[in-house]
Amino acid sequence: MDFIPLERWFDDQSDQYMIISGPCSAETRGQVLETAKQLDKITQVQVFRAGVWKPRTRPGSFEGVGVKALEWLKEVKEKTRLKVAVEVATAMHVEQALKHGVDILWIGARTTVNPFSVQAIADALRGVDVPVLVKNPLNPDLYLWVGALERVYGAGVRRLAAVHRGFFPFEKTHLRNVPKWEIAIELKSKFHGLPIICDPSHMAGDSAYIESLAQKSLDLDLDGLMIEAHIDPQNALSDASQQVTPAQLKVILENLRHRVVDVKDRDYRNILEEIRGQIDSIDRTILETLAQRDRLVRRIGKEKMKRNISVLQLERWEQMRSDRLIIAGKLGLDEKFVKNLLELLHKESISLQTQIMNKRSV
Ligand code: PEP
Ligand code: MN
Repeated sequence: MDFIPLERWFDDQSDQYMIISGPCSAETRGQVLETAKQLDKITQVQVFRAGVWKPRTRPGSFEGVGVKALEWLKEVKEKTRLKVAVEVATAMHVEQALKHGVDILWIGARTTVNPFSVQAIADALRGVDVPVLVKNPLNPDLYLWVGALERVYGAGVRRLAAVHRGFFPFEKTHLRNVPKWEIAIELKSKFHGLPIICDPSHMAGDSAYIESLAQKSLDLDLDGLMIEAHIDPQNALSDASQQVTPAQLKVILENLRHRVVDVKDRDYRNILEEIRGQIDSIDRTILETLAQRDRLVRRIGKEKMKRNISVLQLERWEQMRSDRLIIAGKLGLDEKFVKNLLELLHKESISLQTQIMNKRSV
């Protein structure tokens, strides 16, 4: 697939790192224009975002002001150097946004989950050369995200980017939507050249966590940020707790450290080469050891089968886990990581032994 890199999206776009900011929702003309005026002064910000049609969980919440806000965005374009972006969820939204000169469209998380909606948007985009951002779906399903990107790409859109905004948490966490960096990285390696923008505001749900999430996305070499900013966050009509003022945004952007992906320094390259060699050999040993472990597990399975003993031996598993965690602790390994690893190993043992048991009954 052939994606146009961010720095070539617009004639006057020089920076390859894209910063999009603006309120969760366009509320009033004054709020939109004042926020845009303040963001215009922050040189890193290139695009002004504002939700015009808001997908809300329950009816009766503020659902956006609709088409009339598109007029305010037109004014933002006239009065500032910023490009403007809105969320679209239907073909009508696409048509209206384009009619009002919106520069970038984005598909929200609640829309990405629905292939019918995405296809309707893609059909409306056919033959129109406008940049589109596709937010990840609410649930951590890489292929739902991939499918939405493919539908939009299939309509001929080449100025295309993904937005990682985190996934609905099934466990209690301090974040509103948990980032799954591994999914974003998988997407990047699946679609070479596809820009990925991070939306730490919707990940965080609380302005306190925005900076650290944004830094993490920079450390992972993502290509831009979408951060919600409002002139008066406390009184925002949607997502009040996660919005920052333009002044706070400026500080966040100043604190972020951009990493270099690759350097020409020869010493650094040699050291890296050497360490990577060692890691390659350790990984090989880990895999060989795992294969050895599997063989032993299968032997136990056969012995159990002969004597008709159940696969799961809870006491043994609990004992094993606590022994291993003590060793891991002494070795300075992260407890959560080791717990997850032991659970995976145990799951695999059970599955191997169950396969052996079931062979007898067929
Ligand atoms: C938004 O950007 O305001 C929004 C509704 O985001 P998401 O689709 O990520 O929830
Ligand atoms: Mn929002």
